[in-house]
Amino acid sequence: MADTEFDVIVIGGGPGGYVCAIRAAQLGLRTACVEKRATLGGTCLNIGCIPSKALLQSSENFDEVSHHYAEHGIMVEGVKLDLARMQARKDEVVGANVKGVEFLFKKNKVTWLKGAGSVSAPGTVAVDGTAYKAKHIVVATGSESIPLPGVAVDEKRIVTSTGALELDKVPGHLVVIGGGYIGLELGSVWLRLGAKVTVVEYLDRLVPGMDGEVGKQFQRTLGKQGMTFKLSTKVTGAKTTESGVELTLEPAAGGAAETMACDVVLVAIGRRAYTDSLGLKEAGVALDERGRVIVDTHYASNVPGIYAIGDVIAGPMLAHKAEEEGVALAERLAGQAGHVNYGVIPGVVYTWPEVASIGQTEEQLKAENVEYKVGKFPFTANGRARAMGSTDGFVKILADKTTDRVLGAHIIGPDAGTLIAEIATAMEFGASSEDIARTCHAHPSLSEAVKEAAMAVEGRALHI
Ligand SMILES: Cc1cc2nc3c(=O)[nH]c(=O)nc-3n(C[C@H](O)[C@H](O)[C@H](O)COP(=O)(O)OP(=O)(O)OC[C@H]3O[C@@H](n4cnc5c(N)ncnc54)[C@H](O)[C@@H]3O)c2cc1C
Repeated sequence: MADTEFDVIVIGGGPGGYVCAIRAAQLGLRTACVEKRATLGGTCLNIGCIPSKALLQSSENFDEVSHHYAEHGIMVEGVKLDLARMQARKDEVVGANVKGVEFLFKKNKVTWLKGAGSVSAPGTVAVDGTAYKAKHIVVATGSESIPLPGVAVDEKRIVTSTGALELDKVPGHLVVIGGGYIGLELGSVWLRLGAKVTVVEYLDRLVPGMDGEVGKQFQRTLGKQGMTFKLSTKVTGAKTTESGVELTLEPAAGGAAETMACDVVLVAIGRRAYTDSLGLKEAGVALDERGRVIVDTHYASNVPGIYAIGDVIAGPMLAHKAEEEGVALAERLAGQAGHVNYGVIPGVVYTWPEVASIGQTEEQLKAENVEYKVGKFPFTANGRARAMGSTDGFVKILADKTTDRVLGAHIIGPDAGTLIAEIATAMEFGASSEDIARTCHAHPSLSEAVKEAAMAVEGRALHI
């Protein structure tokens, strides 16, 4: 094959694209990945999951040492914030991760085509003027922040998540527009570092789609930490002033407008598929009403040889969902039978405490008239949580009333994002709540709260 000919060309080097490229190469396909950013890893590694978690960790450490070490008898005086160092550490974490992907490309012999790619014709990808041929083209170009009319982003005073990860000063008052997980995570970072944080949300609740009971507790817990909320409220305009930003707010249902002054505004109202300058329309690729590539269950678009995965197609905009799709598609292209179980995709909010969910919520089960049983166990009754001083929250397991099969689980509490993995595995194996209840869990561990919640499904929890 010539240097410009490949079995697979993936456009986009995010978690969907780079994972698809590595898996395709592992399976013996000659593979290239086009990425226009200076580093691989996409939104997730560069301006998403990884930098946000680095700042969440650092700000959590700051909050712990400032407010909670004394409970342990550790007296620290004169705690100071070096934000420049904290930001530099975040950049180092990102740097190590993106270099790791570059290393994996070399190891697996994936060619990185540096530049912006477009589909010039089915079977041909143009990268900055050079044409490359591929039997299969995979579109994995991800997503971008949705703009809010009347609120012009300058990434300094009015920022998207990208600017919120780069602030060089703790804002006096940060207003977060949008009560989704990105806004709440980044709001938590700046709250812990000393900002006053107000979350303005159009709906009457945070993180729509989250189990209602968990959502209520989540709002209470963030409220106790000092975050304030203006729900059922819409932002209709923003004016940058000499000292900050003046926002205009209105009740979502209509009514008198009010203004709110702040130093920085974070617009976090969601993300939309990114397909700019890709030539998809010209190639005849069908997009849906939200600009996402329409694919079948094998990730094929309506144009033979063009596929799409990750944030650019329908489904939860999550890195691990994109990765699973990348693997499944690569395996299909290599003649194997890859698939993704969309019923078992965990969702995690990395605040403190964390919130994690998988499968169906009570609201969904009720809407579908599914009869179910509930088992709940609070972290206040878990020895390890007490030892950690992190007793806020609970584990809730939902199981089918007749078969006892686990239908969903919702956790708010310490390390919920890790605890949910056990339930994901159980659900993949079609486990019943009794299977989890009869599995030996180490003591003392947070995972005992999962076991106890499973026992509570049959009303036989031991420690409550
Ligand atoms: C602040 C923030 C925090 C997040 N936290 C989490 C989290 O904790 N957990 C989680 O699961 N998800 C998280 N996400 C979501 C996650 O980042 C995305 O779901 C994930 O990155 C999607 O992967 P992808 O491969 O589809 O697209 P992306 O990661 O967006 O990658 C697409 C890549 O394609 C490139 N590209 C686009 N067009 C072209 C072109 N024409 N030519 C060449 N390259 C192109 C882009 O430069 C980009 O690098 C977060 C997102 C944000 C913004």
